[in-house]
Amino acid sequence: MNNHPRPKFTWIGHATVRCDLPGGEVVLIDPWLQGNPSCPKGYEFDRLDAILITHAHFDHMADAVDLAKKHKPKIVVASFEICQWLGGKGVENCSGMNLGGSQDVLGLHVTMVRADHSSGLSDGDDILYGGLASGYIVKLPGGYTFYHAGDTALFSDMQLLCDIYRPELAFLPIGDLFTMDPEQAARACRYLGVRQVIPIHWGTFPALTGTPQALEKELAKLGVTCELITLTPGGSY
Ligand SMILES: [Zn+2]
Repeated sequence: MNNHPRPKFTWIGHATVRCDLPGGEVVLIDPWLQGNPSCPKGYEFDRLDAILITHAHFDHMADAVDLAKKHKPKIVVASFEICQWLGGKGVENCSGMNLGGSQDVLGLHVTMVRADHSSGLSDGDDILYGGLASGYIVKLPGGYTFYHAGDTALFSDMQLLCDIYRPELAFLPIGDLFTMDPEQAARACRYLGVRQVIPIHWGTFPALTGTPQALEKELAKLGVTCELITLTPGGSY
């Protein structure tokens, strides 16, 4: 299981994660570059083959329209409601889905899973219904599986995600205030049974107080054997 090819992951700050697949394709989860205080200055893509969006908040999709128009990804995945909105803004190749469903994305098996969060879609001064917030379980053709939780509170059904999908690595929010804090994230690692965790949604603003150091302490306190991989924005694993 450990030797299956996996993507190279690059944390672009906040919840924005770039996945370079073994075949060279680039998948971007939760595109937020412009105005993202953590995004490395002037960060640009040479190619972009797929975009996945966990929910409609600006810090998870602010750059979706611009990037999709510029790079013309083969597929843009989000809730049915977000996809309808993106389509109205001229984004092509949107493929909406909902919780529990899976679809093929560049040969990846992508499943939309639960997140305990909101998903209002800001459009000018209005907030539209953006469907439910979600996370994604992504399985590569060779079997390597990872989980991007999006924004969420801790929920005990993460144990089901472990049972069904056996993810090896999880991207988990730890910043607190809008999402889990480090203590909940440590429990999430236990529920998910992941070998590795990469913390996201921290350090972007002073209001996000959770830190990787705190997560490390909580993992130790619970006796959870899970390797903590702390990236700096722009850094890769
Ligand atoms: Zn967020």
